Amino acid sequence: MLDKLAAMNPPLESVLDLLGHYPRRYHDRTRQSEIAELEVGEEATIVAEVQRVSSRVTRNRKKMVEAVVEDGSGLLNLVFFNQPWREKQLTAGTELALYGKLDVYRGKRQMTNPVVDVLGRVGDTKTGVVMPIYPQSGKADVSSWEIQPVVTLALEWAGALAETLLQGVLDELKLIDRTTAYHDVHAPESTRDAERARRRLRFDEFLRMQVGLVARKRAIEAEESGIAHAVDGALVDRFLAALPFALTGDQVEAIAAIRSDMARPVPMHRLLQGEVGSGKTLVAITALLMAVEGGYQGALMAPTEVLAEQLYAVATQTLSTLVVPSETTLLAERPVTVALLTNRVGAADRRKIAAGLAAGEIDIVVGTHALLYGDAPFTKLGLAVIDEQHRFGVEQRSLLRGLGDSPDVLVMTATPIPRTAAMLVYGDLDRTELREMPPGRTPVVTEVIGPSPLDRRVAYDRLRAEIAAGHQAFVVCPLVEGSPKIEAKAATEEFEELAGGELYGLRLGLLHGQMKSADKEAAMTAFRTGETQVLVATTVVEVGVDVPNATVMIVEDADRFGLSQLHQLRGRVGRGGTEAWCYLFADPSTPDGEARMTAMEESTDGFLLAERDLEIRGSGQVFGERQAGLGDLKLGKLPRDEKYVMFARTAAEQILDLDPGLAKNRALAEEVEDLLGDDVEFLFKS
Ligand code: ADP
Ligand code: MG
Repeated sequence: MLDKLAAMNPPLESVLDLLGHYPRRYHDRTRQSEIAELEVGEEATIVAEVQRVSSRVTRNRKKMVEAVVEDGSGLLNLVFFNQPWREKQLTAGTELALYGKLDVYRGKRQMTNPVVDVLGRVGDTKTGVVMPIYPQSGKADVSSWEIQPVVTLALEWAGALAETLLQGVLDELKLIDRTTAYHDVHAPESTRDAERARRRLRFDEFLRMQVGLVARKRAIEAEESGIAHAVDGALVDRFLAALPFALTGDQVEAIAAIRSDMARPVPMHRLLQGEVGSGKTLVAITALLMAVEGGYQGALMAPTEVLAEQLYAVATQTLSTLVVPSETTLLAERPVTVALLTNRVGAADRRKIAAGLAAGEIDIVVGTHALLYGDAPFTKLGLAVIDEQHRFGVEQRSLLRGLGDSPDVLVMTATPIPRTAAMLVYGDLDRTELREMPPGRTPVVTEVIGPSPLDRRVAYDRLRAEIAAGHQAFVVCPLVEGSPKIEAKAATEEFEELAGGELYGLRLGLLHGQMKSADKEAAMTAFRTGETQVLVATTVVEVGVDVPNATVMIVEDADRFGLSQLHQLRGRVGRGGTEAWCYLFADPSTPDGEARMTAMEESTDGFLLAERDLEIRGSGQVFGERQAGLGDLKLGKLPRDEKYVMFARTAAEQILDLDPGLAKNRALAEEVEDLLGDDVEFLFKS
């Protein structure tokens, strides 16, 4: 039995694993119906024993498993489509809890694809009115009734558990103690007890994350080795004064916040959040100049080569007229110097960059991950900026910090994240938002287009009309999760099809992630200069490709994209101050897909769409596994549990106020370390 538990995913190897293996639901015997009393169309839970099971292949080649169950009041047929493993699971004599809707097929009463919980064998002793149902896939070899007794043993063995919260906090938040919570989540006497237990344990999940984040934030703030930049020099002022436009109010505020952070001897650790086109890059360059002004170097890291190259182009261009003092030149000054470092920069150029940094002749290095691995030996790194943070993890942030001696860190993201979710993902950063867009942006007209060729015509006609008017367009190809190769192939096929069909006669370009860097760059340049009229691309255009002349975007299979991603994509058009259109080609097969398409038509507000995305898809999918902690939520869920996040944040702050190293709360310290790993271990004294 223990072998079986250890082979589960995740494995259950310790008492703690077992206690943390929460039931996925409960079966309340007082709420079950009898087969004989069920009415057609009614949804109900019944408990019944399997009499016999069989399977066959239907006329349209679907595998169908049929079972007959019995509960003392009557017999019922069960029908399962496309669940061939049910045949093995539902052996005669197995007791099941079933939830489903009664229907009639050819005069027989049946349930089709009901929710099935295997309770055990008939005759097993199953105690309690409320029975826990443990997570088990139909394929796994461990059933709920096998887990239950082991968990019961684990509960006995564990005895009383250390309480991590003060009584005052428990009272205030109406939470029960941990010992009761762990007991009742596994062996409740009523569903109400189970619910109270889950509330407490859900709170604990958020608390662990917040304690880790708050502790990390405070540790950084406590460092006294940060750089107090001289931020009030003429360079930054000259730069800002020479801009051809006025800063938005939000940009002014962001720059002020960064200025004051950078002037303090405490390392800055700030998140700059703003939609595509809200003017983050400009703020970043200003911040880099503040570092350069005082004689420090700056790093600007982007997630892809395309982006790094684009940022490099923007930085060189924006800074081209600025000079800094120099001891080695005749005029005692030299231009502000920016270098580019990506994986395609050759060894000779890398050596040049290294020498330039050592001699203090390079001020800013723009690059990709390549920056992190020693090829840019900064001698005086004063500020590290990370663009599009959601592609990087916390570890990379630490690595980047390690390139200098406690440099300031500015993290930028174009993904609008609801406030509470940001508190989870970026809870250790200070935050600034650019919500106000620079003037001259028109909202993009968005239309969802069905699969009919006639409907699509509308989009292609608009595209041609815009090209005729001298504008440009994007066609974005389907997302192929986990396979850049297939994605590239699909894009190439689409390109060829369009070139010989709908878009015949136009100048088309192709861009996908599998192309050689030089080809990618050539494709980008051709589009930027207008030589290419329509860019057929995969999601590599999602972030950062900046061509204000593009006014039409067509997204193929749009319902396969997440809302935030679609919003990012759409942000690629409508940057030039003239009208723009986004056509979402979609044939959504799920309610989720449909909801996303409607949301895109109805709103152009990134923050609102982010909230919707979270509601529709849930936190796990929106943020992915890579965000430490989020994948560990078993009971917690956003946006449903926003309140818990807020309360947990406050509680974490109170706890760390009273006991900064958690010396008096070892149980909590260990749990946080378990959750967040090496990253926080140094924070707590043991
Ligand atoms: P982000 O990095 O947030 O996507 P950018 O900094 O690239 O946005 O800005 C998008 C475009 O808007 C750029 O061409 C930039 O020069 C321009 N821009 C930035 N700030 C302003 C402003 N205050 N007024 C007008 N245009 C601006
Ligand atoms: Mg940007």
